[in-house]
Amino acid sequence: MSIWDEALIQFNKAAKLLKLDNSIQNILTNPKRVLQVSIPVRMDDCKIKVFQGFRVQFNDLRGPTKGGIRYHPNVSLDEVKALAFWMTWKNTIADVPFGGGKGGIICNPKKLSDGEIERLSRGYIEAMHRFIGPERDIPAPDVYTNPRVMAWMVDEYHRIKGYNVFEMITGKPLELGGSEGRADATAKGGVYILEEALKKIKIKNPSIAIQGFGNVGMTAAKLLAKNGFKIIAVSDSKIAIYKKEGLSISKVIKHKQTTRSLEGFKGANTLTNEKLLELNVDVLIPAALEGVITKKNVDNIKAKIILELANGPVSADVRAILFKKNQISIPDILANSGGVTVSYFEWVQNKMSYSWSEKEVLEKLKTKMVDAFDNIYNSCKEFDVDLGTAAYIHSIRKMVKVLELRGYVKKGEDVCMM
Ligand code: GLU
Repeated sequence: MSIWDEALIQFNKAAKLLKLDNSIQNILTNPKRVLQVSIPVRMDDCKIKVFQGFRVQFNDLRGPTKGGIRYHPNVSLDEVKALAFWMTWKNTIADVPFGGGKGGIICNPKKLSDGEIERLSRGYIEAMHRFIGPERDIPAPDVYTNPRVMAWMVDEYHRIKGYNVFEMITGKPLELGGSEGRADATAKGGVYILEEALKKIKIKNPSIAIQGFGNVGMTAAKLLAKNGFKIIAVSDSKIAIYKKEGLSISKVIKHKQTTRSLEGFKGANTLTNEKLLELNVDVLIPAALEGVITKKNVDNIKAKIILELANGPVSADVRAILFKKNQISIPDILANSGGVTVSYFEWVQNKMSYSWSEKEVLEKLKTKMVDAFDNIYNSCKEFDVDLGTAAYIHSIRKMVKVLELRGYVKKGEDVCMM
């Protein structure tokens, strides 16, 4: 099954429960615009290599499309479409005035020099600049893109336009219109959500395992350790390390930063990434890539709470299986919405040419995350469904209201029966 087919499962389930009209389902499951571009890049050996780039602007009914750009060898149109679809619902849940979009380039950034990544990033903006912009579509970082890449992109847009348009992209460095709190926002938002969930599902001194030690996974580990949580396992793309009594996260971070790997960390056992997922922990945080918890391994998953910090780590039908076993999977479109929420704050600050302190940003973030969690939790109770389905129910209802107001639905027509 393709990732796009996967993405539709959860939507269809919620649409069915809502008895959502077919024509409305068609509007909501077809992307508004799909862009594919070829980007010729002069490589360090002076030869030209052509890369494929994508941008899917899925739905702009609630505002300009918004979502990150990913650099990865496995990027495909199908994947970008699914990710753009998810952004639509994530932005609705986060209650930020954006539609959903996503971009990607098929490349292996680990094998490119800084200069090549810069030329590739500038080439992407050169190819896409007519279709993006602060009122149209606002990109941001995603897997293997970062503030450095955003800086090249905002500079390229400046070069083309002849003036600065900081609000055309978010996740920028502070010196170039970035926001305080953006770098840690996805992880921070996830921690707020987890703390909220732990108020409902009371677990004393929960043990935690985190898959993925990139920006999101590492920051989540750091913040959770600082808040007194016990993290017993973490992993990067190569290896997992495990210590029953709890890892010293500051030491693990130091090791990762100096050696660029978790391999060789002393004072912990090693495991495979797959085995990390199956550890006997209270909380499991998949913070790497999609499709890691599937029908194949769901029976071996023991965590009581799964906080989906990556995009799409748990397949939709698996969330329902976990729910039946009294295990809660907090869906990605809620769990990792802290990133785009602070992106929204960055966009607002750029528009005002004014900046808020970190404290102000984090207070606003916390309020939004707690509200989002409570809304979804209430839908979950109302329909007696898993949190993933509840997240779609809540956001589809919000979207139907927008469709009504925009005139897609005739007065008195019942498109959503619940
Ligand atoms: N790439 C992030 C996500 O998947 C952030 C998107 C944004 O800030 O626009 O949510």
